[in-house]
Amino acid sequence: MSEKKENNNNQPQHHNQKPKKKYNHNHSNNHNQKDKQKDKPRDKNKISEHFNRTHFACTCGNCNQEFRMSLALIGILEHLKAKFNQNINVHRAYVCEDYAKELFGNSKDYHSKGKAIDISINNVELKDIFNEVENLIEITGIGFVPSKGILHIDMRDKDRNVFIVENGTNQDLTLAMRNKYGLQDLEATS
Ligand SMILES: [Zn+2]
Repeated sequence: MSEKKENNNNQPQHHNQKPKKKYNHNHSNNHNQKDKQKDKPRDKNKISEHFNRTHFACTCGNCNQEFRMSLALIGILEHLKAKFNQNINVHRAYVCEDYAKELFGNSKDYHSKGKAIDISINNVELKDIFNEVENLIEITGIGFVPSKGILHIDMRDKDRNVFIVENGTNQDLTLAMRNKYGLQDLEATS
């Protein structure tokens, strides 16, 4: 300690050198800061332009945030982001099998296969999200959930199923329902 003190005490004696040293020191710091700003730290969790792992991981709290997600579905989300230019809220994405059993009574839900996602979009009405998604042929499962203000989207390996969730049960999305909620009438538009 005493040696260090001596060194510190010695430094002011090199008065001529001090300003130069100080300048170099500050300059080097500024340089590093600029570099950091330019070269933003890469997010290891990043999955696509606007989405990262935390958007899709299981939220059960027991499974170490397991994660599976269809890249096609992520592409759909990026499409919706570009289309509406608003924040996409992911309400539920991947659900581990244990949590799926707890939530849905079925461990093999599309969420637990990484093929389903529940979303809403800031400043965009649910019906407008629905109408856009229904026109995307890749999407084979669409659940309109007006009571929660969310849209369930999945990519099941089956014929398309479009349904409305009311009173906690999946029901056929009839023309009367479409009219009630202002959804497009596909038969009329096709
Ligand atoms: Zn889980």
